Amino acid sequence: SKAAVIDGKAIAQVIKDEIKTEVSSLIADGKRAPHLSVLLVGNNPASIIYVRNKALAAQYTGISCDILRIPENVSEGEVLKEIEALNRLPEVDGILVQLPLPPNMSERTVCDAVLPGKDVDGFNVLNVGRFCVNQEAFIPATPSGVLEILKRLNINTLGKNAVVCGRSKNVGLPIALHLHASQNKGSTIGDATTTICHRNTPPDQLRHFIKSADILVTATGIPGLVTADMVKDGVVVIDVGITRILDKNGKARLVGDVDFADVSKKASYITPVPGGVGPVTVAMVIKNTLAAYKNELDYGPWNKSVLPSR
Ligand code: ADP
Repeated sequence: SKAAVIDGKAIAQVIKDEIKTEVSSLIADGKRAPHLSVLLVGNNPASIIYVRNKALAAQYTGISCDILRIPENVSEGEVLKEIEALNRLPEVDGILVQLPLPPNMSERTVCDAVLPGKDVDGFNVLNVGRFCVNQEAFIPATPSGVLEILKRLNINTLGKNAVVCGRSKNVGLPIALHLHASQNKGSTIGDATTTICHRNTPPDQLRHFIKSADILVTATGIPGLVTADMVKDGVVVIDVGITRILDKNGKARLVGDVDFADVSKKASYITPVPGGVGPVTVAMVIKNTLAAYKNELDYGPWNKSVLPSR
């Protein structure tokens, strides 16, 4: 069988159109547009592209967005000051600090400075902790993008074997947490028997676990980690890895962790790289911004009594 290739761009378009509809009706009701502020420290070329994509997506949906460029050589204290200023501005609904930060700053300190109710990246320790104990929280864009894809494919993960390759705090770990946790009411995601593989998983064990997977999520940044002989027929493959490589002709190209050409012959569904998880991730940041806005206006799903006040 040949896998259905998951069109991340099309899924992202649907999500963005849903947001756009909601934002237009807010504005038609005389309310202000939601606002996202993005902090970009330094000149990392990949970060510049990511930030631009997020700003374009925001604009498309009617969410206003500004990008604050901060030079590479500033101190952590100065970045914290900028964040505090944005925290205090009532018209800023979402704050996003593009990672990675320069090595002279602590990403933990900087992410924790963002007010939890404006933390649309879900990196503040309060959101991370709330999420871990099943309380409402902002969930980082990449994991929520992966879940959104599974949801929109109508995949029920209950009782299935899920394998996640990669355990990073912002990607692999939260994806695995979601897949293993009890399904929320009405959700089809969760309740999977979930295995996390990481850099210390011996190759033969990696093979063994991957073979068992009904749902395979890879987030390692290792091109070619998963080959067709390793997977089970009919597996659902979500490839979160994005690595820039030079092809035979010396041309730069983006690839995932999965050998797409061959694995797609055995999988039931597979995400391409690029054009799979990436665009959906961008849409999820925008979706979180709308959620943050609705929280401020007090008709959203957030319970203000348990989130520190903005
Ligand atoms: P990201 O932020 O996209 O998750 P990181 O570079 O932070 O990327 O994390 C890469 C992850 O991949 C780490 O959790 C690491 O343990 C995992 N990893 C590295 N090598 C392997 C491997 N051979 N098999 C499975 N996982 C691996």
